[in-house]
Amino acid sequence: MKRMSKKIFLASPHMGGEELSFVHEAFETNWVAPLGPNVDNFEQELANYVGAKSAAALSSGTGAIHLALKALNVGEGDVVFCSSLTFSASCNPIIYQNAIPVFIDSDYETWNMCPVALEKALEDAKVNGNIPKAVIVVHLYGQSADFDKIQKLCNQYGVPIIEDAAESLGATYKGKQTGTLGEFGIYSFNGNKIITTSGGGMLVSDNEESIQKVKFWATQSRDQARHYEHTELGFNYRMSNILAGIGRGQLKVLNQRIQKKKRIYENYQEAFRDIEEIEMMPICNYGESNYWLSVMTVSPHSNVKPLDIMLALEKENIESRPVWKPMHLQPVYKEYKFFSSLEEGSISEDLFERGVCLPSDTKMIEEDMNRINNIVKGLF
Ligand SMILES: *Cc1c(COP(=O)(O)O)cnc(C)c1O
Repeated sequence: MKRMSKKIFLASPHMGGEELSFVHEAFETNWVAPLGPNVDNFEQELANYVGAKSAAALSSGTGAIHLALKALNVGEGDVVFCSSLTFSASCNPIIYQNAIPVFIDSDYETWNMCPVALEKALEDAKVNGNIPKAVIVVHLYGQSADFDKIQKLCNQYGVPIIEDAAESLGATYKGKQTGTLGEFGIYSFNGNKIITTSGGGMLVSDNEESIQKVKFWATQSRDQARHYEHTELGFNYRMSNILAGIGRGQLKVLNQRIQKKKRIYENYQEAFRDIEEIEMMPICNYGESNYWLSVMTVSPHSNVKPLDIMLALEKENIESRPVWKPMHLQPVYKEYKFFSSLEEGSISEDLFERGVCLPSDTKMIEEDMNRINNIVKGLF
């Protein structure tokens, strides 16, 4: 029987060492609850790191998007624009609020929301009298969208922006952290993200009043009273004090993780330099990516297809993934509008068809990366 070679993950949790001491402290003080000192400190420390005035630690990034929409008063029948090339968590909360998503295509320069497609969508909305209540801009795979162009358009129409920075914690745009550029920013600490609490999220904003309100909604909207009094609908969306302890430890190694992710990207870039059919996801010079996932595309003229690469890696016990399937192509969202950057087809669809997310696990050693490089290079 063939010995199974060492498993290499796409992106797995990578503890730094200090997480357990925060968790221990929570146990010793019996703060085993959905609030407590770790929650308060994690919020403060994350807000300081990104340069936001306030933050609310929540049970998921999805929950953070949900409450950001609610804070912007998005309700039944309202329209919300969202990047199409993303994970479904970006737009599911639009439906939770009984609002209507409209999907916007990507461009080839950034892979993120295309300002040209966004402009088309805004003009169309103006004609139809349904200007969106919010635009959700995703910073895909750790790289910021070209925010100034998007913001300029949104300002023209008076539309606030929610940044889905679930994948881009620590990445910057013109010197500012992603997540702090729009009205609200959200981060995710799911197990596969650049830092993790096993599961969790954070909402940040300079609007401290809104963040206070979000914390109220997230703890079942309990009014000030001896008995349980509720004048508003509540949610159970707070982060546990145990998990916030993991987050505090993880935040200490975020910069190290970004450095390693960057080395992983550069390793692939160097390894595939001479293979004309492979292109790495472009890196934009307006900011610093956090390189959460290293993603490549295969030329449409290549005999090697993305599936061939994924299967070859899988055979050697190595994880890889297609690029996100765009939301406008998802059966659950097929009835909603989509604005493409192209006359025919779309850029997001093309990237989905030609893309492969390569292993980007920060626990990889050089030997692991060489194994991957050789398997991929061997196909071309
Ligand atoms: C992971 C992710 C989310 C959701 O975060 P959860 O914490 O898993 O709810 C949202 N948007 C994007 C783009 C993501 O990658």
